[in-house]
Amino acid sequence: MADAATPMMRQYRRIKGEMSPDVILFFRLGDFYEMFFEDAKAAAPILDIALTKRNDVPMCGVPFHAVDSYLAKLIRAGRRVAICDQVEDASASKGIVRREVTRIVTPGTVVEDGVLDSSRHNFLASVCRVADVFGLALLDLSTGLFTAEETQDASALLDSLERAAPSECVMPSALAEEGLPVAGMAVRVAPCEDWTFEYETAREALVRHFRVHSLEGFGCEGRRAMVGAAGAALHYVREDLRRQTGHIGSIRIRDSAGFLLMDDATCGNLDLVGRRGKEGGPDLLGVLDVTKTPMGGRELRDWLLRPLASLDDITARHEAVEALCAERALLNELGGALQDIRDMERLIARIGSGGANARDLVALGTSLAALPGLKGMVEGAPCGLLRDLGGKMILLPELVDLIGRAIADEPPITVKEGGVIADGYDDELDKLRDAAREGRKWLAEYQVSEQERTGIKTIKVRHNRVFGYYIEVSKGQADKVPEEYIRKQTLVNAERFITPELKEYENRIIGAHEKSVALEYELFGRVRDAAVRETAHIQESAGAVAALDVLRALADRALALGYVRPAMTAGDTIRIKGGRHPIVEQMPDAERFVPNDTELDCLGNQLAIITGPNMAGKSTYIRQVALIVVMAQMGSFVPADEAEMGLVDRVFTRVGASDDLARGRSTFMVEMQETANILNNATPRSLIVLDEIGRGTSTFDGISIAWAVAEHLHNNEAVKAKTLFATHYHELTDLARTMEGVKNYNVLAREKGDRVVFLRKIVPGGADKSYGIQVARLAGMPGEVIDRAKEILANLEEGEFGETGQPKIAKRRKEPRPDDSQLDLFAR
Ligand code: ADP
Ligand code: MG
Repeated sequence: MADAATPMMRQYRRIKGEMSPDVILFFRLGDFYEMFFEDAKAAAPILDIALTKRNDVPMCGVPFHAVDSYLAKLIRAGRRVAICDQVEDASASKGIVRREVTRIVTPGTVVEDGVLDSSRHNFLASVCRVADVFGLALLDLSTGLFTAEETQDASALLDSLERAAPSECVMPSALAEEGLPVAGMAVRVAPCEDWTFEYETAREALVRHFRVHSLEGFGCEGRRAMVGAAGAALHYVREDLRRQTGHIGSIRIRDSAGFLLMDDATCGNLDLVGRRGKEGGPDLLGVLDVTKTPMGGRELRDWLLRPLASLDDITARHEAVEALCAERALLNELGGALQDIRDMERLIARIGSGGANARDLVALGTSLAALPGLKGMVEGAPCGLLRDLGGKMILLPELVDLIGRAIADEPPITVKEGGVIADGYDDELDKLRDAAREGRKWLAEYQVSEQERTGIKTIKVRHNRVFGYYIEVSKGQADKVPEEYIRKQTLVNAERFITPELKEYENRIIGAHEKSVALEYELFGRVRDAAVRETAHIQESAGAVAALDVLRALADRALALGYVRPAMTAGDTIRIKGGRHPIVEQMPDAERFVPNDTELDCLGNQLAIITGPNMAGKSTYIRQVALIVVMAQMGSFVPADEAEMGLVDRVFTRVGASDDLARGRSTFMVEMQETANILNNATPRSLIVLDEIGRGTSTFDGISIAWAVAEHLHNNEAVKAKTLFATHYHELTDLARTMEGVKNYNVLAREKGDRVVFLRKIVPGGADKSYGIQVARLAGMPGEVIDRAKEILANLEEGEFGETGQPKIAKRRKEPRPDDSQLDLFAR
């Protein structure tokens, strides 16, 4: 069969030749998908199956009914797989059966359940550049979510990419050659033709797909980079991969306006969500995620990574959470109703792409059936957002009824072998089934009557694939069989016969069965089509369910973990009473968490310097403030007794080299690049968290850089961002002497007997300088050494200040260069 010269092998080579060589071809032969040559050699070890040889051709195969699990293994290994099916009935064709590649599955475009993680989107990314504008499109084929964005800032593009963590990326060859650094993200860059990114072509692809005259309605007409990326993504999926795209109903523009910006390093430093592929420590998502549906889980992740920056939008969410907190009964009821809802987004995507089975339809039906209950619960809610969400749930009673009546209660996984359609749904089907049932009854009776008639007790009526129904008689009794029995086969201890009567009934049973199975498949197809016609409505409902699920989860957490509603303001003060770190306070074996206050603004409390010994709690404290900002602006309540939150536009964090080893980017250079980014982009509305910057170099360099950075943040009117600066460089506490916006704090620690006790309390003032010397005493240093150390310390302290009482470290040796803010002043 695998002989290179056979027509089958010629067909194989032709089809394989049309594919990109890295695509593994699953070639359907009977009940198997076979792989040959290099494909077989590459796949066998990944699939852990035997590599065989026929006529010197290496080959291996997987059973068709289990294809999904094998597919999953290859996709997870980053491979692309083309499924080549028989596209005509083998029995109906003369000569060789026609075969075609029906779809190509790639890491960024899987829709099979076995590969997908229900808690996150699986994105295909598409990147394009027109002049100096980057366009990025993200497509999750498993849900139909399709977004596009544009930016002129390459690092913002990378942040978006890293946040989306796509499984696959397409881009024009020029960009790929420039080495857009997606390589570090374990993303597969798929080959794609450059012309598909061109504006006219890409626009045409989108216009045709969405059946619109222009892209005006999506807000992307004329946005060349964004359209190029989106159109190419669509082309890749439809044309190159031959996939169904009917469920992609619209494209959403993601503008950074209206959102709190955070770069990827910040999301990581704050442990917002665990990173894919990395060992996940505790994260904020883990603390907050008590969502009941997969859509809700994905939505919560989105909210966390893209908090809002508009007071109205934030307030709407807070009101919803408050309304739910106020009515515990409603909260519980909602939880119960949401529990019944399955992954509607992925279900309808799968149903639309033809890959769904009857169980998927049942799951969709049950989910839709839960909607009226949910809608009823929120329709009368005393909160606009909740009512809106209720309004967006589109009830589809006819579809629910149709699925309920048509599909059997516990249908099998396959859709072509019957058992899918319920009894009583279709008269014709019921008749065929009755006929088949009658036939089976007749067979059972026939066995008994033949036993009696012939006196052979061991007569059995059996069935196999080779000769259908037959009569089996044990060897010892074989001479007693009547002459009308026709011998078919002799076994070691039995003989097999058929009779004309038996064959006649067999034809009736099989005929009826075959017809009923075919009819069932047709009926199933009609129900499926009815569901597909409602795709847009189902997606809209799913979106509302997702948001409601998140709001319910936030309310649940607020009550369970003692969060309060923050007072959002348009001012620039952040005032937190009794704030806590949401993740650290939940650590299972943590000590009792000590709450702390915070006061930041753009005037007298612009820059807080936090000193204190190692392990005192500095890093925890400064992150806690940033986390409270993120939580408040994503719509959550916050871990505090009270919080007044001036709106923040960006959160920046920078963690000193040695605290950042986990991310594997510990070079001083990276630290300085990130710090530069902060100085260049922060505004008075931003919050900056600096943890031990300057630690990656020598002490003098470190102190100098840290000092200069602090001065810049304080003196430059364009920056003046609220800043939390944790440092063990005690020298920095002197900043407060010269700059009025700087406040010193330290984390209290006390000696107790021979131990150091950390009190975890943030108090005004710099840290106790003699602390290091005390530790030296604890360590058993001789008394004279300790006393001498104290003398030297006193000398050093005296030497620190000049005649004017200014710290010597702050002295300027030449006049400062006029900075941007001063230029501005002159300009006016
Ligand atoms: P530093 O940055 O000063 O070296 P960390 O912030 O890393 O200290 O804190 C050290 C440990 O102390 C943390 O792992 C945490 O478990 C604990 N901790 C910090 N702050 C608090 C607090 N307010 N209440 C209770 N435990 C805390
Ligand atoms: Mg620290």
